[in-house]
Amino acid sequence: MLKATENVSTVDVNANTAMDFLDGAHRKFGASNLGVTTYDTGFELKFNKDNTTVASATISLTVKTRMAKWARGSKAPDKANMDAITQVGRLIASHEKAHRNSYRDAFNRSKVDQAVVGKTEDEAKKIIDSLGDILDRACEDLHKTEGKITVTQNGAAFSAPKSGTRPMSRPYALWKRGTCPITFATETS
Ligand SMILES: [Zn+2]
Repeated sequence: MLKATENVSTVDVNANTAMDFLDGAHRKFGASNLGVTTYDTGFELKFNKDNTTVASATISLTVKTRMAKWARGSKAPDKANMDAITQVGRLIASHEKAHRNSYRDAFNRSKVDQAVVGKTEDEAKKIIDSLGDILDRACEDLHKTEGKITVTQNGAAFSAPKSGTRPMSRPYALWKRGTCPITFATETS
């Protein structure tokens, strides 16, 4: 059996302007990040009477999102800033949701619970281990199409961001299993 669960939480970022919001989020999530989605997997194997081969397996996936959420600062943002904050907030939420969905879909497609039946414990563990590669690929694939937003300030008439997200361009050197290595990022100009 495959069991997938998810959990979403937000981190309040008090800000008077859109740039304040981005800076505050970067302080909480590091670098130019605005949120993060991580996963954990677990398994429980039941063995046949011979005690050497797997009779059935329950494999679990837990996906967790933590992301920045605007909260009022010392004064209310003007309309241009509030609009930008709202837009950035929507983009963060939809990007992290896309991560949760792609992890879940990849997990369900893997059918590892069936693949381990009849295998020895060692063989089964290797198969379950391969789940990590499958999930990491789901993260990487999403970042081929989205994951970064460009925020632009046009003098006093602040307006940003104009459009949706674009592909991530940073290398994947910081890869860590269990954490999408490049979380939702911004560029400001
Ligand atoms: Zn991402």
